[in-house]
Amino acid sequence: MKCHSSVEQSERGESDGNVGATGWVGAGGFIRSSARLRLAKDDTFNRGGSVELQWRITLYPVTVHAQPGILAFPEARRAVEEQARTLHPGPAELAALPRSRGRVLAEDIVADRDFPPFPRATRDGYALHSADLAALPATLNVIGEVRAGSSLAGGLLARGEAAEIMTGAPVPEGADAVVMLEYTARQGASVEVRRAVAAGENLVPTGSEARAGQLLLPRGTRMGFAEIAVAAGVGKAQMSIYGAPRVGILSTGDELVDVDAHPGPHQIRNSNSYSLAAQVEAAGAEPVRLPIAPDDPVVLKHLIEAGLALHLLLLTGGVSMGKYDLVEQVLAQFDAEFFFTGAQIQPGRPVVFGRARSAPGAETATYFFGLPGNPVSTMVTFEIFVRPLLDALCGAPPGKLRFLQARLGAEVRTKTGLTRFLPAQLSGEVDRTEVELVRWQGSGDVAAMARANCFLVVPPDRERLAAGELVSVLLR
Ligand code: AMP
Ligand code: MG
Repeated sequence: MKCHSSVEQSERGESDGNVGATGWVGAGGFIRSSARLRLAKDDTFNRGGSVELQWRITLYPVTVHAQPGILAFPEARRAVEEQARTLHPGPAELAALPRSRGRVLAEDIVADRDFPPFPRATRDGYALHSADLAALPATLNVIGEVRAGSSLAGGLLARGEAAEIMTGAPVPEGADAVVMLEYTARQGASVEVRRAVAAGENLVPTGSEARAGQLLLPRGTRMGFAEIAVAAGVGKAQMSIYGAPRVGILSTGDELVDVDAHPGPHQIRNSNSYSLAAQVEAAGAEPVRLPIAPDDPVVLKHLIEAGLALHLLLLTGGVSMGKYDLVEQVLAQFDAEFFFTGAQIQPGRPVVFGRARSAPGAETATYFFGLPGNPVSTMVTFEIFVRPLLDALCGAPPGKLRFLQARLGAEVRTKTGLTRFLPAQLSGEVDRTEVELVRWQGSGDVAAMARANCFLVVPPDRERLAAGELVSVLLR
């Protein structure tokens, strides 16, 4: 069902990623049919550096809605964002403040009073009338002390007077500025001030950060540490948050064994279920690890059915062109609608996105991603495609990818045609951020991925990125 239009990549870093011709038939690349079209690669010829493919076409009597096929990265991303916009979170629940981390607000949080609630001193020093410092040095009468959490006894500060004040304390009425302790010399009941201050200096006026009743965190805000501080500041010991969506994780492959099993000589430990669970949790959702599915259509079908009963299903493996890559075929039995069956990216090109019903007649369809089995591909495709959908299921507006710019440490050469997200190391100081690829053996190399702290993004039209060039980086 997948129709790759290029040489089937081994997904190694150095492999050919040229996708010159499209393998999809029909205007606009869409096929709407009650029959499934399988385009299988028959043979490849290498003629003078260009690759040509011949296709064997087989029609299967399976109901498949739309098959948009293999999309360029921006279109694939847009397809996910479009679907994400139609989604709604589950019911809200009450959460204690510390439990809100990473979750999404189901209520607006407003300022319960002015912030700051009093004119707050931002320096240790003396509160005074700035106009008293017209001639320097100026000597003022010290009439008292204001500590954080207290106020000036007697209240008002008259002209010619000063009050010793600490950071965070309320500036007394009458005073319009604070002079820093460093520019003063105390002599008993008076203070000599050596430097002028402007009105308003070293204080934050009442209500200047927020007015009582002002919206601080709208519903849909994801709670990070700053948001938690805001909620704490307005006295929200508990708040309404959306329930975490339950995300099924289904690793497929005959070669897989679980982490606690002793692998045979040709078996591989299942790492994807664990890395994905970590990514799902970091995205504020609840991972549900399903048992490993063998490349057997009957068992796979049962496990997919269980996964489609959750809020989102993430499958790994079984989405390439191999004889035992059965995921799409089995999904089609659940009346699946595919939004794309591949993306022009590396790693992760065979990625699949769609929705299906756990049972014929089920009220709603469940979205699924078929992520490629190679562990780095799984990680990358989660970050660039799954996150916006998870945001929406969590109740947040689908987030945008945020790219940084950094100087490239060493030249990178690739083939054109794919947007590449290559494991890289971002390093350097404030004024010189540099990025370099990590050495890797391709998209199975998890150890390389663990040495990386970002992805270097290579646009599809670039064959060479020169050392010293400003390049795009996606943080991980
Ligand atoms: P596939 O996408 O099924 O063709 O798998 C591609 C590669 O990824 C194979 O080398 C698999 O052994 C490996 N792989 C697939 N699933 C997993 C998994 N859950 N954990 C670790 N490696 C995997
Ligand atoms: Mg497999």
